[in-house]
Amino acid sequence: MSARIIDGKSIAADLRARVAATVRVLDEQSVRPGLAVVLVGADPASEIYVRSKSRAVMEAGMRAFDHKLPADASEADVLALVRKLNQDADVSGILVQLPLPAQIDPHKVIEAIDPAKDVDGFHPLNAGRLARGLPGLVPCTPLGCVILAKTARPSLAGLNALVIGRSGIVGKPVAQLLLAEDATVTIAHSRTADLPALTRQADLLVAAIGRPNYVKADWIKPGAIVIDVGINRIAGADGKSRVVGDVDAGAAAVAGAITPVPGGVGPMTIACLLANTVRAACAQRGLSAPAL
Ligand code: NAD
Repeated sequence: MSARIIDGKSIAADLRARVAATVRVLDEQSVRPGLAVVLVGADPASEIYVRSKSRAVMEAGMRAFDHKLPADASEADVLALVRKLNQDADVSGILVQLPLPAQIDPHKVIEAIDPAKDVDGFHPLNAGRLARGLPGLVPCTPLGCVILAKTARPSLAGLNALVIGRSGIVGKPVAQLLLAEDATVTIAHSRTADLPALTRQADLLVAAIGRPNYVKADWIKPGAIVIDVGINRIAGADGKSRVVGDVDAGAAAVAGAITPVPGGVGPMTIACLLANTVRAACAQRGLSAPAL
């Protein structure tokens, strides 16, 4: 039997449509959410990400404010821009595209963002709220992972969930979100002793490692839900580069449901960013959180 493929593209399209519908309702109340994206330098991959984020923001009926600073911008320049955006009532959300050039401390920049506008959910206050189980803005990729897992099984309560990876932007927040869903959560990482033994017990596996095809088919518990966060560019047999996940393709023959790469977690990240921007806009105006 082969796994159900969790179609992140269409699930993300549905979420984007719900965001757009909410934006239309807010428009009747003269509320127009806006996202400011700050890009420092001209890293080609970052430029592509920023363009696709701005396009998605506008397609959802929101305002996009793009700010490009040169690669040699100082930390003070970036902090000054962030402070200006914090004060701008038209800006509901602020996203500073990472990585930043070496002369700029990303932690300082993230901490300068008003937590109420921190749509990436990286500010320590939002990270702390998530750790405490309090409402706040939650990182987009982890949020997307949980939404996808719940399409395979609406209640994750009591599942043995294994998160591979402990980064602050994926592994840790996804583990905390799964805990909030009442899963029994284990976090594995580069120093974990026997990873296959852990994966074989996991009803839900989230792989956020950054190593191509690392998790093998015979590590997967039959019927498990597998969420593959990895985005790894490798050279194909034809010499062209292609993107693969952290989980070997053979896992689809063992799992119960699995996300493809590409077309799984990736599209959810931008959709959740749009949702967070609407949530932030509502919270800033004292409106109740939209049901997205
Ligand atoms: P990271 O490098 O910050 O963290 C990787 C984690 O994997 C670390 O915690 C490390 O301990 C763990 N790890 C490394 N080698 C391991 C091993 N052999 N066994 C077990 N654990 C191991 O990466 P990240 O930012 O968390 O991203 C992880 C992956 O997710 C990358 O491929 C990245 O491109 C992808 N990603 C995708 C999206 C998306 O939108 N789909 C968003 C963010 C990250």
